[in-house]
Amino acid sequence: MSTTITSETRLIALLGDPVEHSLSPVIQNAAFAEAGTDGVYLAVRCGRDDLAGFLRGLARAGGGGNITIPHKEKVTPLLDHPSEAVRRTGACNTFWGDRQGKIHGDNTDVEGFRRALSTFLGGSARGVRALLLGAGGAARAALMGLLEEGADEVVIHNRSAERARTVARRIGGERARVAPFVDELRGQSFDVVVNATSLGLSPRDPLPLDFEILDRAGAAMDLVYGPGPTPFVEAAEAFGVRATDGGEMLVQQGAASFERWWSEAAPVDVMRAALLERRKS
Ligand code: NAP
Repeated sequence: MSTTITSETRLIALLGDPVEHSLSPVIQNAAFAEAGTDGVYLAVRCGRDDLAGFLRGLARAGGGGNITIPHKEKVTPLLDHPSEAVRRTGACNTFWGDRQGKIHGDNTDVEGFRRALSTFLGGSARGVRALLLGAGGAARAALMGLLEEGADEVVIHNRSAERARTVARRIGGERARVAPFVDELRGQSFDVVVNATSLGLSPRDPLPLDFEILDRAGAAMDLVYGPGPTPFVEAAEAFGVRATDGGEMLVQQGAASFERWWSEAAPVDVMRAALLERRKS
């Protein structure tokens, strides 16, 4: 948070329901303080009927924000200037107003995923064969990210195969294909396996994949994060597969959002440290 709040201070807000468990206020206010940007980041619980009012009011007042569950898709028709990532994924997680009062929107989950993936892989994903578990909002961002990073093929497996087919058709083109049944994955080899389902959020959840059925998984990336290692990360590591959770993506999507609001590079190390500190407490 900036040290002095004045009438010039920009209000940047997270709009969603629920918002109380979000780590974005911690990460963003640490970044604002480090960069010396005149803004404050707050989480605002916001129902469907209030979304348009909050969005327009904040943008027209020169502020902006993030959008989280359950509004990432509902917000897209309200944008005057949706980015390509919003148009392709059908979801928006970041918005801001311009001087003309127009509302811009982006889906920085795509860029956050790309940055986290290349950090994890230690380079680009060019030529990789990926297995993507899930077909919701996070999976769409991951699919777009994988394709933009140059993945050769992305095999999508989701509980609802129909939803996976829709995602593959919408975003994937010729490099995405759907494996409707888990048995089709048996004996297959992937350079990276990405869990973009919500499985692992609750301790009672089953694992999204039994690594034993694969011939090889080069690396495993979970988009879920929690205070400790996620079940997917633990399962991958038990099979000797290098794995990481969704913490770095969270930081990197936040850094990309910071850059949209402030038009300057985000202090990523400070954001990462703020997240680490909170996860330890
Ligand atoms: P979503 O749109 O609700 O999608 C949920 C996905 O999980 C769907 O593919 C759904 O399958 C699958 N799923 C849910 N319950 C299941 C079950 N019992 N068995 C099998 N599959 C199940 O959610 P989302 O927005 O994509 O978020 C997914 C996860 O990514 C969440 O944990 C979220 O926290 C995380 N995430 C992380 C970041 C980050 O920065 N690290 C960013 C965004 C999201 P069906 O289609 O069959 O329902």
